[in-house]
Amino acid sequence: MQEAFAQIAAAERDADTFELRLDMMTRPNIARLIDATRKPVIATCRPVREGGVFAGTERERIGMLDLASVFGAAYIDIELSTSPGIIAELVARRKECKVIASHHVLDGTLFDIRRIFQALTSTGADVIKFAYEAADAWENHLAFDFLLRARSEKRNAIAVAMGEAGTPSRILYRKFGGWATYASPDGLALAAPGQIPAAELKTLYRVDNLNPSTKVFGVIGNPIRQSKGVYVHNPLFRSAKKNAVYCRFLVDDLPLFMRHLSPHLDGFSVTLPHKQGVMEFLDDVDGASRAIGAVNTVTRKGKKWIGCNTDAPGALDAIEGVAKVRDRRVLILGAGGAARAIVFEAQQRGAHVKIANRTFARAEALAKAMHAESVRWNQIDRTDFDILVNATPVGMLPHEDESPVDRSLLNRKVVFDAVYNPPETKLLKDARKAGARVVTGASMYINQAALQSAMYIGRKPSLAKMRKLLLGS
Ligand code: NAP
Repeated sequence: MQEAFAQIAAAERDADTFELRLDMMTRPNIARLIDATRKPVIATCRPVREGGVFAGTERERIGMLDLASVFGAAYIDIELSTSPGIIAELVARRKECKVIASHHVLDGTLFDIRRIFQALTSTGADVIKFAYEAADAWENHLAFDFLLRARSEKRNAIAVAMGEAGTPSRILYRKFGGWATYASPDGLALAAPGQIPAAELKTLYRVDNLNPSTKVFGVIGNPIRQSKGVYVHNPLFRSAKKNAVYCRFLVDDLPLFMRHLSPHLDGFSVTLPHKQGVMEFLDDVDGASRAIGAVNTVTRKGKKWIGCNTDAPGALDAIEGVAKVRDRRVLILGAGGAARAIVFEAQQRGAHVKIANRTFARAEALAKAMHAESVRWNQIDRTDFDILVNATPVGMLPHEDESPVDRSLLNRKVVFDAVYNPPETKLLKDARKAGARVVTGASMYINQAALQSAMYIGRKPSLAKMRKLLLGS
């Protein structure tokens, strides 16, 4: 009870309605709980079979819901698995207190969404609710289809895909005509996996402003929870007054994402491991992306998907903010996706590129493909260069004490580290001490995100604003 009062107080500002999970409290004083807020209350007493914790009899459970309706709950939530006679009775004798009929598929079992929709609507409840577990972003389309059908039949509906992969369903519900979403109080434990704090839903994702015309953008990848794009693109949409939202999509199965979810999107950023794989689903990619062999931005032109790569100019614009690369010797550490983009763009801008990689065969292959020079990892200290680029994850958290090269090599050079977590890596700290000019991974991130934003919004944002959004300074 005490915890419930604290949660109500914590969310009073952001919540429009409270759900009281009576099953999670021992001997709840229902009248006092309902009186603790002026907002409408949904009373729920979820039995174990539907993922709740209420283990008493059905009679006791329904008795608690009855009490809640007497004490002023605006809604009671009754599960489809309850005896049809009881549901019919609750629906028939409702007055002020409305009924939400709900169904939860918890264990990832297959389900027939049409049958569930029909069963829920046939109860005659005022609101229908369907929740299921999603393991991959494409599965959000089931929630969207459910809501679209409800909208076409003018029914109040809630559809939630649970789990991290389901967060888009919690954000985008209004776009598809959903009646409500569930959120957690700020700073308190989540009531369900994938829930987003109410304040974040309102201020970052601006869910109250979303509507069927809202354009949906996002970032696809796996893992995705570390991606900072939502904190950059959503505020930029807001200041550009663009009716758009940017979500994280946890994508494992790319073909299913492209088939079921991409039709709802207007553009998306691409991160590991899909930068190469996404190319086969696009109608066109620009020449640079083709040469690099990777795409990090996808935009819609009419019915076509177009891919491009903003990592490459993002990195070189960052380096050239400190020193021009034309006719300079640029030593690039790494032969993965980021290295490939940087090699290509550095050469475009007239640099002489050398590539060193832990696995020498990959350095050789990349050097051969790009007409650059390859260097063995143990020969780095005998290699001349003006500009050093780290395009490996060495130095990234939690290995922030590591650096790919010895400090003695950095005297008065230009040193760029693509790693942006931590913002100042050991390599960059060493470089500063050695009198080198340093370029951070954050500058590359900001530049590439600004180029993406220009494509999503139609004009380039100020880099100072981007820096503030990302670094808070
Ligand atoms: P990737 O395709 O997986 O390539 C990783 C490269 O790092 C490979 O060449 C690998 O060498 C090398 N490597 C991995 N662990 C190493 C170690 N312990 N010692 C030496 N070399 C090692 O990754 P990526 O996409 O190119 O990303 C590389 C880095 O750039 C990441 O830290 C990423 O966060 C960063 N990045 C930053 C931005 C930005 O906006 N700032 C954008 C993209 C990427 P092998 O071939 O021997 O495995």
